[in-house]
Amino acid sequence: MAPPRDTPMNDNSPDRPREPIVSPYMPRYPDPMSNISNFKIIETTLREGEQFANAFFDTKTKVEIAKSLDAIGVDYIELTSPAASEQSRNDCRVISSLGLKAKVLTHVRCHMDDVKLAIDTGVDGVNVVMGTSKYLREFSHGKSMEYITQRAIEVIEFVKSKGLEVRFSTEDSFRSDLVDLLAIYKAVDKVGVHRVGIADTVGCADPRQVYEFVKTLRSVVNCDIECHFHNDTGCAIANAYTALEAGATHIDTTVLGIGERNGITPLGGLLARMYTADRAYVMNKYDLPQIRDVENLVADNVDVNVPFNNYITGFCAFTHKAGIHAKAILNNPSTYEILKPEDFGVSRYVSIGHRLTGWNAVKNRIEQLQLNDLNDDDAKTVTQKIKELADIRPLNLDNVDMLLRRYHTAKKTSTHIDILHGINNPDQLEIATAAA
Ligand SMILES: [Zn+2]
Repeated sequence: MAPPRDTPMNDNSPDRPREPIVSPYMPRYPDPMSNISNFKIIETTLREGEQFANAFFDTKTKVEIAKSLDAIGVDYIELTSPAASEQSRNDCRVISSLGLKAKVLTHVRCHMDDVKLAIDTGVDGVNVVMGTSKYLREFSHGKSMEYITQRAIEVIEFVKSKGLEVRFSTEDSFRSDLVDLLAIYKAVDKVGVHRVGIADTVGCADPRQVYEFVKTLRSVVNCDIECHFHNDTGCAIANAYTALEAGATHIDTTVLGIGERNGITPLGGLLARMYTADRAYVMNKYDLPQIRDVENLVADNVDVNVPFNNYITGFCAFTHKAGIHAKAILNNPSTYEILKPEDFGVSRYVSIGHRLTGWNAVKNRIEQLQLNDLNDDDAKTVTQKIKELADIRPLNLDNVDMLLRRYHTAKKTSTHIDILHGINNPDQLEIATAAA
């Protein structure tokens, strides 16, 4: 994708206010159950992400992705079940032996054979899953709730006896019977499961449903609560956030949100959301500038581009275009930015070569080019010319710079206005720029 026609903004001035403006709608008293300042990320690019249509990760790639995620500081890395294939089993062994700071999990069916395979690979914990919705009970495994509960308890006790962490999750939780679910979560909590998981497997849940569900679950179990949200209807980040507000402790993410169908909560998007809730917690715990690297790594491997509107790293995520915005951004970036790009290792841009441009942004470019003889009136005059030319087509930054430099040189001989009159089409600037 072509880079934007922009100018990096010179914003290092010490007198420029830098504090974000706090929303008047922030809750006055924090929810006592809320974990927005104390949450953990279970990064499942190497499990859920393997279910993305284009994904094929060989061992070397998996190791590279695991190390990048570990560098960001995610709490857990979840891997494809060792029961899936010989290679998957081998990859669990390899990644478990890397000595990462993140704990390594694998995601298996709630079945003793799978769990034994998992434990043999050397992982730190086992994430077991079982379908409980009436659809799955009817059309997939055909098991009763009593049977499911009994299997779950056996499996959990076995994993715990081996000294490993264990999570029990239901599948398609939001289309399962709430009474059934609470009964099984209560039963596994009683035998000491470390986490229970809820999964919006089909992406049907909305934030209010999630809040109610997690709040109810929170009042029934003492263990941690992990949440997994699919993004079929665009709620994956909002659902994750509201789950944490209601008392969930762990959120599943993947890089760029890749996964089954259109995927799950994206790592970068969740971090952007959580940063606005508790910047200090997020910045102390996670190495945010690494997000871009791992996204590029995964995008290359699954043969997609990072979307233009991606959180933080989309090519225009910090590009300001409208003239009035640019003026305010120059005075105080918080006016039109809730994320500080420098916290994520990316740059802010003010786009100036278009018909919506304003003279403050052009003046800022004049300062960057150190064309010190030009005053505010000059900036206004050149801005009018940019608008006139950009009504024909947008100018790139080189074209704008060429216009400013020619105007600046001509001003020494008082021919600057003649220079402007002589340029009637962006093509003339294009030719002059190419010749320079
Ligand atoms: Zn999933």
